[in-house]
Amino acid sequence: IFDADAPTPRISVLGTGYLGATHAVAMAQLGMEVVGVDTDPNKVAALQAGKVPFYEPGLPELLEEQLATGRLRFTTDVAEAVAWADVHFVCVGTPQTKTSHAADLRFVEAATTAIAENLSHDALIVGKSTVPVGTGARLRSLVASKARKDVRVELVWNPEFLREGKAVADTLHPDRIVMGGTTPESEALLRRVYATPIAEGSPVVVCDLPTAELVKVSANAFLATKISFINAIASVCEAADADVTVLADALGHDVRIGRQFLDAGLGFGGGCLPKDIRALMHRANELGAHQASALLQQVDEINMGQRGRVIELALEACGGSVLNRRVGVLGAAFKPHTDDVRDSPALNVAAALHLRGAQVTVYDPQAGDTARASFPTLGYATSADEAVEGADVVLVLTEWDEFVGAEPARLASLTQNANVIDARGKLDPQRWQQAGWSFRGLGRTAA
Ligand code: NAD
Repeated sequence: IFDADAPTPRISVLGTGYLGATHAVAMAQLGMEVVGVDTDPNKVAALQAGKVPFYEPGLPELLEEQLATGRLRFTTDVAEAVAWADVHFVCVGTPQTKTSHAADLRFVEAATTAIAENLSHDALIVGKSTVPVGTGARLRSLVASKARKDVRVELVWNPEFLREGKAVADTLHPDRIVMGGTTPESEALLRRVYATPIAEGSPVVVCDLPTAELVKVSANAFLATKISFINAIASVCEAADADVTVLADALGHDVRIGRQFLDAGLGFGGGCLPKDIRALMHRANELGAHQASALLQQVDEINMGQRGRVIELALEACGGSVLNRRVGVLGAAFKPHTDDVRDSPALNVAAALHLRGAQVTVYDPQAGDTARASFPTLGYATSADEAVEGADVVLVLTEWDEFVGAEPARLASLTQNANVIDARGKLDPQRWQQAGWSFRGLGRTAA
């Protein structure tokens, strides 16, 4: 498989969550034979039946198409999949540990062990999961101790940068392809796997293993810092009667800065940014890079503080207490175009108000089911109208188009008190005020 003229490699993808399912389907779309492996039999059964177990635009159609070609299948049988394939992508989760900021590497270790123990011929193991720097080197020793001595096996890191909601396009047309810790042969093999996106112009960065691991977490740390930066400035804007939205537009015209990730508001959440900056904080401290850790600690604190700020605004809107008040919450997902509620700021705020005695009703266009599974004690509505019905205060916590484009006058007529808190800075204050709403945003003065 490491020979330039070897046949097209067969692909296994271990872990078929948001990352792995998309990656498996995309690899089949690029023309390779692919098996997706997961320890969760329900996930495997759903995918094999053509159903994506989460919301990701465009993925269901592509899954169906690729299953029909016969190039793509899913299994729980890791031994069979590993014996069959040549290139093994590790796409399992790396959540935050329960008791510290460190990443939990149990799944990555288990998947890598399973690959190593079942190898029957030469193979390339490609880590895609987001891991603390140094993980790849440890996994190499693990593989060396578990794999048969008569097979050639290399382990490299090829971190993934896809965005939920745009996962298919990001996988098929990545902004960059990072290959860490390759030999000339494994680099050539990975270049064959990614031949199409490379031919279409995706830049390739070849580097050592630790650099590849760090590129990923640094990218997320930078994005998180940008969001916390604008939120810090938003608090200055509020105190100085300035408008952070206008300020962000003006900043964004500078190409060195750029407008993206400069929306002041409720801050970041999801299955990646929070746990990735915490894992980097932890790892940086272990490595003695305390200033990097302190910087990220501030980023995290500013971010979490935004949730408290929105809760305060809701309390103020209700005259100091939300006890027995009706709170309509628009948005549960951590961002639009996904049903992912992992560490969702929206749900966090909704749950906090519930704990203070409010009657909270949540509506999200896609994340109703995942939200209910995580926070079953909150009330759930099947439409925005139903969520705001009789509300004392309405909180817009995820910037779905449906909420940004909503008709404020009609919504106002459904509420008890037309109080809105725009926690994402996407509503037009004048439009809402003209429709009779009392409007509060972050980084904007009270109307
Ligand atoms: P996820 O929780 O959606 O999926 C992980 C999957 O791995 C689950 O289906 C789980 O059952 C499976 N799994 C666990 N142990 C396994 C094993 N030993 N063998 C086979 N399967 C196993 O997580 P995700 O969001 O897809 O993230 C996976 C990794 O990708 C994480 O490291 C994450 O940081 C990284 N990542 C995620 C995104 C994203 O947008 N979700 C983007 C870039 C990178």
